[in-house]
Amino acid sequence: MASRWAYENWEKLNGWPSGARRCQASTLRTRIELLEYRFAMKAIRIHETGGPEVLTYEEVPTPEPGPSEAVVKIEAAGVNFIDIYFRTGLYPAELPITNGQEGAGIVSAVGSDLTSLQVGERVAYTGVHGSYAEYAKVAADRLVKIPDTIATKTAAAAMLQGMTAHYLTRSTFTLGPDHTALIHACAGGVGLLLIEMAKKFGARVIGTCSTSEKAAKAKAAGADEVILYTEQDFQKECRRLTDGQGVDVVYDSVGQSTWTGSLDSLKPRGMMVTFGNASGPVPPLAPLDLTKRGSLFLTRPSLFAYISSREDLMRRASEIFQWIEDGDLHIHVGGEFPLSAAGEAQSQLAGRKTMGKLLLIP
Ligand code: NDP
Repeated sequence: MASRWAYENWEKLNGWPSGARRCQASTLRTRIELLEYRFAMKAIRIHETGGPEVLTYEEVPTPEPGPSEAVVKIEAAGVNFIDIYFRTGLYPAELPITNGQEGAGIVSAVGSDLTSLQVGERVAYTGVHGSYAEYAKVAADRLVKIPDTIATKTAAAAMLQGMTAHYLTRSTFTLGPDHTALIHACAGGVGLLLIEMAKKFGARVIGTCSTSEKAAKAKAAGADEVILYTEQDFQKECRRLTDGQGVDVVYDSVGQSTWTGSLDSLKPRGMMVTFGNASGPVPPLAPLDLTKRGSLFLTRPSLFAYISSREDLMRRASEIFQWIEDGDLHIHVGGEFPLSAAGEAQSQLAGRKTMGKLLLIP
């Protein structure tokens, strides 16, 4: 069954003319290649938690689709901070796993119950382990078809961070022209997209980042003010820039090192959105700490709760693709690495050396 599938789809996946398949398939060498293609692939696996050295580049069986799943031949996998949390164990998972939560590529196999997807279609997804690999098995209801006008790499880079910026600005706190937002790590993958969306919806943006190079990138994306929080007290600067009022919302993905300053940068009844742990998780908070700062709101959201239904996933992904097409949203790919260099990519991300999005190319 498996080898018959491989034979039938070999030509499609490799773009060979039909004559080529007939000629090649008759040779022993091609038969062996088909078997290798079908049964083995390269992947970045985690067997134990730890530093980048626990990421192992291994040969593993190529996944087979279940009845309502598809297998995607990954052309680009997004590198995200969440991958580091699974590697270090901050976010627990039953090991071993294949790292990576975001990918885009071509459907290479479909399950027996699937009618909505065809082999050869371009798709993207997020929220499923296993994208640091040549192939990944994904439930069909998590896959989004990529519009013809969007490059596969762009789609891979837009899914997780794009939909995160989307829900943060559209659903968690609906930004508008009356609002001032403080965005930490504003030259990062999520940060640059948050800036562009906040400006699209008319808000004023105060960003923070660690270097003047990052500040220039954030300004180019539309930030009104950028504070170097490695040199300045961002909370004081935020008060100064808002005439002592404070901001309406803080989007804080840095966590531990910015936590208290972020709470102190809000105006009364402002919204604290703590959505990441780049510097470590935040400490526990007593509800009265919100009261004494002026009846603050606090939320700790996660993308996956905002795209859990197919409807939400499609709505957010379609709007992201539309905004990219319209030129309102720019995907900033800050680096591409071969799949085997996943550890180096994650080290650069964790070491604050990157701007925008990193991709792994299998
Ligand atoms: P980024 O590209 O933003 O990289 C992280 C940035 O955080 C760094 O570049 C750095 O910017 C800043 N930073 C500050 N302190 C540290 C530190 N001690 N160690 C490392 N980085 C630090 O990453 P992503 O865009 O992938 O993710 C950003 C954050 O958003 C992560 O915390 C991630 O977990 C979170 N996230 C949350 C989601 C959710 O739904 N809850 C979904 C997606 C992402 P600088 O040098 O300018 O300080």
